[in-house]
Amino acid sequence: MHLRYAFRIEPTAGQRIAPARTFGCARVVYNDAPAAQKAAWTADRSRIATGALAKRVITDAKRTPERTWLAEVSVDALQSSLRDLDKAYAIFFASVTGKRRGRRMGLPVFKSKKDRRQSIRFSRNGFRLRDNGRLYLAKIVDVRVRWSRPLPVAPSSATVVRDPAGRYFARFVVEIEPEMLPPAGTEVGIDLGYLEDLALSGLARTRLAKSVHDAAWGMFRRLLEEKAARAGRHVGVVSRWLPSSQTCSVCGVVDGKKPLHVRTWRCGACGTEHDRDLNASRVILTAGQAERQNAPGGPVSPGVEIPCQARPAERGTHPKAQPVTTGSLPGIPAL
Ligand SMILES: [Zn+2]
Repeated sequence: MHLRYAFRIEPTAGQRIAPARTFGCARVVYNDAPAAQKAAWTADRSRIATGALAKRVITDAKRTPERTWLAEVSVDALQSSLRDLDKAYAIFFASVTGKRRGRRMGLPVFKSKKDRRQSIRFSRNGFRLRDNGRLYLAKIVDVRVRWSRPLPVAPSSATVVRDPAGRYFARFVVEIEPEMLPPAGTEVGIDLGYLEDLALSGLARTRLAKSVHDAAWGMFRRLLEEKAARAGRHVGVVSRWLPSSQTCSVCGVVDGKKPLHVRTWRCGACGTEHDRDLNASRVILTAGQAERQNAPGGPVSPGVEIPCQARPAERGTHPKAQPVTTGSLPGIPAL
């Protein structure tokens, strides 16, 4: 399984020039590729294969007067940018054909100089960890890293991110063997309260991102999903529209709205007396179990998507503007 580790890095003023240039070049390559595909499609309804596309928008482009500056930056970062685009298209097509569950994903969007967050990714060939703790990035330099914890194994990729506040981070993807815990016979449903009114993933790229993430629930959920994946456990997330506090956990009847001060209620259909929160937890658990049966790979499918695939910004796609239907009332089997 893959895990992502992020650390603050501290490029000096001089060391920021090269990443800035690489951000720009990776963006140009990312944006040139769809234009080339469109031209090929218009000309003869063909699609340029990945290798040929890389040759056209990187190797050949460098030889043209308009794009000579592409040669000044790491080719590895440029190729990663194209791979991101490829992945974004794959996600888009999987989404429109129904092979991908969850939110509908739109076509990859062009990257803009004005994006508040810029990133470049280096494959194993494009970076090295120095013995002195510094991070070497191809055609950039050795950058100081604030190591807050050790990496469990050598990383397979490094992404340099500049956030809207101008801070720089290095994100490493490492592959580790999960440490499976023995099977557990218990499961639990949890209502994360006010979170049901927030669509975390939908807000993640907006100005509210910071306050949303500061709310710590997003972090809590990520950590929980990461820990579950490492231990071979399943975390299910049920629809945020699930009327968990109105549904009878015994007979399944939706009994109508219950104002927050109503702590206990009696089901109008089967007559069961319910504690509000306990009943909601049971409803969430049942929904989570049903969701799990439907999950790709069947009921035994462990874990969650790898964290390094989780961010829309890394995927380079954007959700269509519509209500978010995956959400925030998690049904969480016991770890
Ligand atoms: Zn009932």
